[in-house]
Amino acid sequence: MPSSVMSTSRRGGGHPSPAAVSAVGLRKSYGDKTVLDGIDLSIPAGSVFALLGPNGAGKTTVVKILSTLITAGGGQAQVAGHDIAASPGGVRAAIGVTGQFSAVDGLITGEENMFLMADLHHLPKVEGRRVAAELLERFDLVEAAKRPASTYSGGMKRRLDIAMTLVGDPRIIFLDEPTTGLDPRSRHNMWQIIRELVAGGVTVFLTTQYLEEADELADRIAVLNGGRIVAEGTAEELKRMIPGGHVRLRFCDPHAYRSAGAVLGEAGRDDEALVLQIPSDGSQRALRSVLDRLDSAGVEADELTVHMPDLDDVFFALTGTPDQSLPSQSKENVR
Ligand code: ADP
Repeated sequence: MPSSVMSTSRRGGGHPSPAAVSAVGLRKSYGDKTVLDGIDLSIPAGSVFALLGPNGAGKTTVVKILSTLITAGGGQAQVAGHDIAASPGGVRAAIGVTGQFSAVDGLITGEENMFLMADLHHLPKVEGRRVAAELLERFDLVEAAKRPASTYSGGMKRRLDIAMTLVGDPRIIFLDEPTTGLDPRSRHNMWQIIRELVAGGVTVFLTTQYLEEADELADRIAVLNGGRIVAEGTAEELKRMIPGGHVRLRFCDPHAYRSAGAVLGEAGRDDEALVLQIPSDGSQRALRSVLDRLDSAGVEADELTVHMPDLDDVFFALTGTPDQSLPSQSKENVR
């Protein structure tokens, strides 16, 4: 058995859980273009993992390799304990994949799509109908069930796609950009569905271009850029990786703005908006120092806000410049 199948990780100090997905040195090239240049992954069972990266970073390629739709050019991976190269059938039996290569057939109804999946999984007819009805109900598709899927909205199609995937009762689900193109309400619906899947014990491998989505859903996030994973950790860990915290002071009076600028020498300036930005860790001590200096100049800011780095800052810092593995500058300088 490959050693990475045995790898375990701890979540929340609980029992070690076996890796649902593990990969070492995954590579893929098209012609002389290297798309993946050595990807390592270890995803504990029952967790949500987000692969985050800009358009064209290689996210779909990772999903296609791990779900055995295409072969890797190098490296190894195990999914649900099955080697992707040696046992692709074992992998396919354990996983569900939804996303850009959706299985939904627009010419037949939602219900017929569900029956088709039940047949593909060799469920006896009565059992297939029961499972289909249950899933259509769960994903709020009962009213639409007898209509052709081509008439469904984007959100309904995604829900049908997930419902179809669940017919096979997969332990691991790959969701390739599950909310790209959805309106905010459908996006929040999808997030709720994903949370419910995880509560039911499913491991979710998610790709996304949206920082907010990774922040909302993922236990761990890996940032893919230039064919490599340039950072990996919890949302909080990633946010701590970059400096970017600052205090922002806005003034209405140009005179007060200039006086404050004179005592806050290291501040970034926006002379038009009358805004000063002072690098800060957001602590009480740092804020007091800023306020003391303003007092000493006898000026008062009209607005004071404290900003700590968010995932957007991390993303821009890590993916802003190709092949820049770690940022050396704060957000103000990078943008
Ligand atoms: P993402 O999902 O992050 O947007 P993809 O994995 O779809 O990125 O694509 C990564 C890169 O690989 C892109 O530059 C894309 O053009 C290229 N690519 C993907 N599939 C093929 C293919 N079949 N032939 C040639 N290039 C491809």
